[in-house]
Amino acid sequence: MDNERLLCDISELNHLFRNSASIETLLNKAVEMVAERTQAAVCSIYLYNPEKQELTLRATKGLNPDAVGRVRLKLGQGLTGLALKEMRAICETDANRNPNYKFFPGIFEERYNAFLAVPIARGVSKMGVLILQRNSDQCFSEPDIKALETVASQLGNIIENAQFIMGIHEPPPETPKSMPTELKFVKGKMAAEGFAYAPAMVLNKHRSLSYLLHHDYGRTYTLEELHNAVAATETQLEQLQEQVESKLSDAASLIFAAHLMILKDQDFLGRVVRQIEAGISAPVAIAEVATNYMQNFLTSDSPYMREKANDIEDLAVRLVNNLLSKGDEIDVYRDHVIITRGLFPSDLLKLSSEGVRAVVLVGGGVTSHISILARSLAMPMVITDNFDLLKVPDGTPLLIDAEMGNIFVDPDDHVLETFWSRQRARLTLSDQKKLMKPVTTTADGSRIQLLCNINLLTDLKVATELHCDGIGLYRTEFPFIIRNTFPSEAEQYVIYRKLVESMPGKPITFRTLDAGGDKILSYYHDIKEQNPAMGMRSIRFSLQNKAIFAEQVRAILRAGAGADLRIMFPMISSVDEFHEAREVVRESMAWLAAHGVEHNDQPKLGMMVELPAVVDLVDDFAREADFFSVGTNDLIQFLLAVDRTNESVAGFYLPHHPAVLRVLNRIVRAAVENDCDLSICGDMAHQTQYTPFLLGIGVPTFSVDPVYLLRTQQAVAAVSLSEAREIAREMLSKSRISDVTALLNQEKERGTSDA
Ligand code: PEP
Ligand code: MG
Repeated sequence: MDNERLLCDISELNHLFRNSASIETLLNKAVEMVAERTQAAVCSIYLYNPEKQELTLRATKGLNPDAVGRVRLKLGQGLTGLALKEMRAICETDANRNPNYKFFPGIFEERYNAFLAVPIARGVSKMGVLILQRNSDQCFSEPDIKALETVASQLGNIIENAQFIMGIHEPPPETPKSMPTELKFVKGKMAAEGFAYAPAMVLNKHRSLSYLLHHDYGRTYTLEELHNAVAATETQLEQLQEQVESKLSDAASLIFAAHLMILKDQDFLGRVVRQIEAGISAPVAIAEVATNYMQNFLTSDSPYMREKANDIEDLAVRLVNNLLSKGDEIDVYRDHVIITRGLFPSDLLKLSSEGVRAVVLVGGGVTSHISILARSLAMPMVITDNFDLLKVPDGTPLLIDAEMGNIFVDPDDHVLETFWSRQRARLTLSDQKKLMKPVTTTADGSRIQLLCNINLLTDLKVATELHCDGIGLYRTEFPFIIRNTFPSEAEQYVIYRKLVESMPGKPITFRTLDAGGDKILSYYHDIKEQNPAMGMRSIRFSLQNKAIFAEQVRAILRAGAGADLRIMFPMISSVDEFHEAREVVRESMAWLAAHGVEHNDQPKLGMMVELPAVVDLVDDFAREADFFSVGTNDLIQFLLAVDRTNESVAGFYLPHHPAVLRVLNRIVRAAVENDCDLSICGDMAHQTQYTPFLLGIGVPTFSVDPVYLLRTQQAVAAVSLSEAREIAREMLSKSRISDVTALLNQEKERGTSDA
């Protein structure tokens, strides 16, 4: 064998990789090439499955092709298995005679006695074995071994890349996946509470383009059938769009718009038709054209365009299923727990409109707004970094207890019974209504105001039924995040007016657009920021885009006519910024007045207190602002330098860190002394272990998601102001986290909080 020549061929191998659409093609081309260059009668590649400790013949030149996929060897079994087990080349002149030789009938390798096996590895990871065979009169020499080892090491590299890129790590879709045997329970983190017991489904497996490309369709389809499928798909998409609109009027941007646009794109359909006319099977033609479109979208710098790549895949799968007259398979997600690696807000809306019962998000990629949106959609969601969950076979029963962040895989009867009894004890909305008191007071009768946080208009149902005292935070960014373009002033007005009308006479607090950071407007945030949490976001964004800001402010002022209207600015970091934002409101009022447009001309103007910079200036701010709303979610993030969306540092995100407690105390003092209204609207407001502390430092108003209204009211009622003050005093005296934790545990045991 010519070592030099084989080395040159390595660049060809790489070339093969780039031009191979599947691992099968790559391996077949590789064995052809190596067999030819080494003048071996047989060249075969076995790939290794470490979980099963098994090698499978994946490609061969020279043996019976039917053996591919069928011939399997355990690690150490046969000469091939031995080569991998011991990670060394095995060279035999008469392989049949070696006691380790394993005979497989029907593959016809007995004809070739000269045998050379070299392991394919990447570092210490075993990947497979590369084998050459010849007639016994042409046995292999030392240089042959060296040359083949060089090829094998290159193959290791290439196969690893291919496995990564082509996703062929997994067996073909038809074969049920082997579930990691010990996977019975996974502890995750709650993103949106709720329960679900339903079959699992890993997202994008059945709906992936690679599944479509490699599936055997068994028959051909006519152009007429294609056009019928297009028409059926169009109708379905329009219906889905209508459903979303009726369910979520504020979020109902055209989330299926990209699908419909591509479907109607003559170029897309034209290419599919041309492929079919050229003899390609219709489903494969659809998948190929879609892949091509997708690749263009995926290379875009814009996250919005990259997000659209998903829509193309989704569309192609719908279209193919309609072509196969498997329209009902489009509904495959209904009543399932979806396991997925990443999710856009629009995906979550789609899943919700398709009747998904719960979502498990594996790995990072979750934005705080995905969790907030899931809560508003009443979609239980758990986040975990256990990647084994992605291997759970479809249909496996999963029990999701999002409240505890628990995921049970195929739970036994005992687990189920415990779950059902907890479920029976859960309060329905009507139970909550019965328990909810018209006013919220502490145990000693002090009146506390209980407001709610609204993200989507759907949240209003619970909020109004439970008669909360008003809206303490309306996150206006949701309609902006979900849409695919800035909503117009008129669109915003319609949404805002619904909010105002839902709670006549009660305070309604609009927070102006808090975009950026992890709240990406995918149609706007084209420029990738190194550190978006500290980037061009929130009030900075609004002040830099004054036209957009003024449009929003006008819509709020108009919608707030006749209401107890409050407008607050997020992420304020300086008094100057507050002034500048306030000026935009004043100018907008002047404009509306000059144009004779009905509006609220006396809104209260406040700010989120969520940046450490505010703390030292808090008295100055308290004199400027009509009210403060303390955003503990961001305040903790920035005070402790802990990314609120990063699972791996979640242990450092401590609301009871002494610095956080003292800062909160300082903010409340400033508000009280300067007669500035104050509420707390971050998650700490509903985390009832902190209720006594917050009451104790003098927080008069809590604003929580509607689902937490009752529990917050009950936690307030469980403690008297004098007790709360004592608890707060003690907590503030501690300088160590562990001491505060001990105090909280003590309180928990005494039952002053239910956490
Ligand atoms: C906060 O930061 O605490 C807050 C309420 O705002 P958001 O969670 O929307 O950033
Ligand atoms: Mg915030």
